[in-house]
Amino acid sequence: MHYISTRGHAERRKFCEILLEGLAPDGGLYVPETYPLVDDAMLDRWRGLSYADLAFEILSLYIDDIPPTDLNAICAKTYTLEVFGNARIAPVRPLETNLHVAELSNGPTLAFKDMAMQLLGNLLEYELARRGEGLNILGATSGDTGSAAEYALRGKKGIRIFMMSPRGRMSAFQTAQMFSLQDDNIQNIAIEGVFDDCQDIVKAVSGDADFKRLHRIGAINSINWARVVAQVVYYFSTYFQVTTQNATQIDFAVPSGNFGNVCAGHVARMMGLPISRLVIATNENDVLDEFFRTGVYRVRGRADTYATSSPSMDISKASNLERFVFDLLGRDASRTNLLFDKQLRERASFDLSGDLAFRQAEARFGFRSGKSTHADRLETIRDMWGRSKALLDPHTADGVKVAREHSVPATPMVVLETALPVKFAGTIREALGREPDRPQRFEGIEYLPKRFKVLPADAQAVKTFIAEIVQGETC
Ligand SMILES: *Cc1c(COP(=O)(O)O)cnc(C)c1O
Repeated sequence: MHYISTRGHAERRKFCEILLEGLAPDGGLYVPETYPLVDDAMLDRWRGLSYADLAFEILSLYIDDIPPTDLNAICAKTYTLEVFGNARIAPVRPLETNLHVAELSNGPTLAFKDMAMQLLGNLLEYELARRGEGLNILGATSGDTGSAAEYALRGKKGIRIFMMSPRGRMSAFQTAQMFSLQDDNIQNIAIEGVFDDCQDIVKAVSGDADFKRLHRIGAINSINWARVVAQVVYYFSTYFQVTTQNATQIDFAVPSGNFGNVCAGHVARMMGLPISRLVIATNENDVLDEFFRTGVYRVRGRADTYATSSPSMDISKASNLERFVFDLLGRDASRTNLLFDKQLRERASFDLSGDLAFRQAEARFGFRSGKSTHADRLETIRDMWGRSKALLDPHTADGVKVAREHSVPATPMVVLETALPVKFAGTIREALGREPDRPQRFEGIEYLPKRFKVLPADAQAVKTFIAEIVQGETC
């Protein structure tokens, strides 16, 4: 299996070569040259497998530059009862007639990002050891990504992580999750600014080629292909839990921001998993809902990017959408390049409404979309709690709200749970006037000693800090 860029001007690469890279050199995203197809015999064989074994089977179709025994060991070490608190790893529970929730948030940081990040941490450690190299990961987070990355990389050999977050803007729980980590290879940087400032610093530092090379700076953001492909596994595992035979169709509803999670659903569907519809749920930051309803993709400015009560979906653009548009346009790299490079640069938007491909998109790719607001979110949390004592986190509530609008009687609908309520206690209190349950291992986490460095929103200050740490430890 080789990977190509959506913009058509990068060399074909193998999995382990793109593992440590972000964007392709031409600015595009890496995608597999073709999607491997699964047939009924494979689905039959996979139906009874454990999550780790299923992950191995699916990943093997995409990774042929890691020996199978090693890949198998990496999957077995990643998807364990100890790490995910459940033997099924991603169990599915019924919510109401025909509506299910796939629990993707039982991992170390209580958000679905653990599902992929835990695997990525183990893949990175393996590949760096094989090459005899080290890596310094620089990242920006508004909450879930940063903690998932830190819990996946803590204590890993050869990897250091520098994670910037906007000072005082994460929830108390999220702050405590990250800042209480005492591992030597983790550096939390509280930036005096907002999330966009943190992202701008990542861009500025990564754009300094000399600094990047000298200090071996890498990233593990949501466009990383390994994260997308790891997420494909739970679409299959959910399918096997909800259906009894391989002909049955299934629908998914996915609370979405950067289009990473639902992109994995698209990949699963392209592989032949019988997914009827992929329902995208956005919050007030409705970039994706607008695109799938109208064909117009419009990147939002800072003033039009809202801070909402489902904050992990507060995005101004959907970084992974280019992967889908590439497929939508029949894998026409020069058109993809024109849209995402020239047109976005010049007008911050493009319009596919007149395109036959876009008008056929619903039928060919199964996408639907909808939007949920703060009031919808509170109402959905109250409604589910009142009816069945099911407590939803605000993001999953957005998913349930939009899922109900698109659900059809004959097809099971599964909402992907992207976080546990305890991470967003403020909104739960607002909706229900009560505290969400807290897993025992997080009791009193806010009172643990915190370890972090405060820096101004200035790329030079961050560079100086990184250089001090890196040199200090290697001397
Ligand atoms: C990251 C995140 C999302 C959005 O997922 P994408 O892959 O960016 O679409 C939704 N909910 C939660 C809780 C998240 O952490």
